[in-house]
Amino acid sequence: MPLGKVRLMEVKCALCGRKEEITKVHKDYRRLAKDKNAVYTCEICRARLRYQALQTQKPEKPL
Ligand SMILES: [Zn+2]
Repeated sequence: MPLGKVRLMEVKCALCGRKEEITKVHKDYRRLAKDKNAVYTCEICRARLRYQALQTQKPEKPL
């Protein structure tokens, strides 16, 4: 495998501002490469969003 041929793309998390470099194998690479305005969120923020979504879905406990 030739070195230096790996396409890296710098992306910035829209939520926390963390910068990351993703490669072609990243599931969002194509989407982000195609659309410069596509929103990227990092693993941490995605996990947090998922957690928050679960929390809001929970029915309120009757007291
Ligand atoms: Zn983030």
